[in-house]
Amino acid sequence: MAEKLIELGLKRSDPSSQNNAAAPELLSLIDRLLTLLAENVVESENLKTSEFRAKIENYRKKIARCGDDGPLPSSTADACLALCEDYFKRGRVYLAERESEFGEVIDVLRDALSKLTGESASFNVRLLSSSDRFSRLTEIQDIRELKKQISQEVVQFKRVVDEKQKQDEATYAKLSKRVAVLQTSLTKTKKEAEIDPLTRIANRGCFDAAIDEWLANASESGKPFVLAMLDIDNFKRINDSYGHQVGDRVLIGAAQWLSKFCRTSDFVARFGGEEFAMLLSGATLADAEIRMNELLQKISGCSYDFFQDGQLVVVQFTVSCGISEYSGDAAPEDLIRRADEGLYEAKNTGKNRVVTKKKGKFSFGFRLSLGRGSKS
Ligand code: GH3
Ligand code: MG
Ligand code: MG
Repeated sequence: MAEKLIELGLKRSDPSSQNNAAAPELLSLIDRLLTLLAENVVESENLKTSEFRAKIENYRKKIARCGDDGPLPSSTADACLALCEDYFKRGRVYLAERESEFGEVIDVLRDALSKLTGESASFNVRLLSSSDRFSRLTEIQDIRELKKQISQEVVQFKRVVDEKQKQDEATYAKLSKRVAVLQTSLTKTKKEAEIDPLTRIANRGCFDAAIDEWLANASESGKPFVLAMLDIDNFKRINDSYGHQVGDRVLIGAAQWLSKFCRTSDFVARFGGEEFAMLLSGATLADAEIRMNELLQKISGCSYDFFQDGQLVVVQFTVSCGISEYSGDAAPEDLIRRADEGLYEAKNTGKNRVVTKKKGKFSFGFRLSLGRGSKS
């Protein structure tokens, strides 16, 4: 535009020229060109565009008056040209800077889009089309058009990201609900796997894990504990006399007795068949002997009433017990074998009694068979 003005006569005055008066057509053309220029310059506060427009307006007025007031002073024409040249120079720098800024913004947006992965196919398609549009934006030369397009894209981009966030939240909520359900059922399954289905106390597998843990803890802390092996006396006779169902009820009753007798830090499990195992925390052999005798006495003093085919059946049972204490044993088998030896002795010396076994004494060195059932 500046070049055109210069070409059309608003050029720096030639001091040698005698006639500075401009033809009316030329003045009108210059006026129109200045108006066009003021309307189409780059809009920016940084460039002080409104100030520039005001100055152009001022020059237009001076040029309009130059027919009446005589020729346009050369200094005014020079100042007008200098103003335009300066504005265009600053405008070019400003545009170059903005273009590179826009370029960076577009790169960031495109990068962000390419990193986002959508859940649904339609979401992906929308992201991809946004990405394409961003690519095309870099080709736009006109900064005003670029600004317009980018602001539209930013709105669209925000909407897509917002939707994705909502979708993600819904998915996470669904997933965490599912995980919670799975966790509950896993805990339940794990618990069920450790419980004997008939007596609802810990099963043999659980006991095996517990005694390993108790041994490890005792070897670390030196804190004593006792193992008691208990077996219902003449249980086969109960089964034979009253039936398996009554036998089952007796097993449940025995498990309840043992659980009730257990302190919070103790542990009780069905070892197999009609045999139970107890771990007594912090107990010495002497303490345990007193406690187990008390328990056996209570059990033997109790009777159970059952209705069998409309008939009242009164069942009484007794329990034998062998106990051993932790004495630096490395393997659970050593401790179990000593308690088993005590139980064997209790059975052979009249049943319904407690026999303690110390390490190194009366140790037979093999596992005794007490007619155990299979692992429950
Ligand atoms: P002892 O005094 O020497 O221990 O004799 P016992 O009769 O108690 O021992 P024995 O090993 O001869 O018999 C145990 C019986 O326990 C045999 C088996 O059928 C029965 N039994 C094992 N598990 C269950 C069960 O879950 N329910 C019932 N009702 N009986 C069971
Ligand atoms: Mg028995
Ligand atoms: Mg037995």
